[in-house]
Amino acid sequence: MATVTAPMDTRARQEWAEEVRRLARERDAVILAHNYQRPEIQDIADHTGDSLALSRLAAGVEASTIVFCGVHFMAETAKILSPEKTILLPEPEAGCSLADTITADDVRKWRAEHPEAVVVAYVNTTAAVKAETDICCTSSNAADVIRSVPEDREILFLPDQFLGAHVKRVTGRDNIHVWMGECHVHAGIDGHTLRRRVEAEPDAELYVHPECGCATSALYLAASGAVPQERVKVLSTGGMLSAAEKTTAGKVLIATETGMLHQLRAANPTTVFEPVNSRAECHYMKMITAEKLLAALRHGTTEITVPEDIAARARLSVERMVAIGSPSRGGE
Ligand code: SF4
Repeated sequence: MATVTAPMDTRARQEWAEEVRRLARERDAVILAHNYQRPEIQDIADHTGDSLALSRLAAGVEASTIVFCGVHFMAETAKILSPEKTILLPEPEAGCSLADTITADDVRKWRAEHPEAVVVAYVNTTAAVKAETDICCTSSNAADVIRSVPEDREILFLPDQFLGAHVKRVTGRDNIHVWMGECHVHAGIDGHTLRRRVEAEPDAELYVHPECGCATSALYLAASGAVPQERVKVLSTGGMLSAAEKTTAGKVLIATETGMLHQLRAANPTTVFEPVNSRAECHYMKMITAEKLLAALRHGTTEITVPEDIAARARLSVERMVAIGSPSRGGE
């Protein structure tokens, strides 16, 4: 078996892929990969998708073990929804700067200041934070979740300030308090960069994926008119792939984490897909390497657990979201 340090040549990659598949069968494991994973991880996975779509898949698959190639809060969400399954995260340090902007204690203190408020949380939060909230949301169903709350109830929205500003605008409500968290990848897709790229490429389409935190600033800018609406398509992962297959545009600019380009380029080799900012890369997502996936399958590492009391409360918040709208509409 060849050592699998990048880059692998074709033979080494084939050997690695065979070993991964063999170990996955042996362990009765299914491999799920987020869209922002490294290309080789996406290619070997049984399914790719956004965080919630993958969590729902995790709940539905028959395999007893899920190897979740994504970040920590995603593996936790899979565990919350599939408590009977073993969830492995190949790199336990794969975190999320957005989820890290708020703790369970912060939520308790905030709620104490607004005792009548309903707490709405974006899915990019830890299980402990979800357990302190009333309803979860994705960026695509956030407005529906907000509308499900009676008009006269205050809302505490966390942790993404861009998504919070977006839902405030589209719902027209002024009784929403927004936590000022943001994802570090936002910095690469700021208004100046987005406008400059769109102006420099007058014939290019612009796809904005709303799911991960890195795209919410682009979503905000598009909705605020900072870039021309007719040029912007806010699309789910599946919608982005369908649009990529059909488009006749010579070039499409992609305002999201750069990992998404791998699937788009494979879907349509004749159109040029370029990132709005090539540095908009989540280093947490890229912590999962070919070697770490192999080690996870060999050694059963690292198992993600969520204490049952936290999981039970967090599950309520996630299930309310599922009951309100189509949570994976923005991702599949
Ligand atoms: S891109 Fe941002 S929001 Fe998404 S996992 Fe990475 S740090 Fe978190």
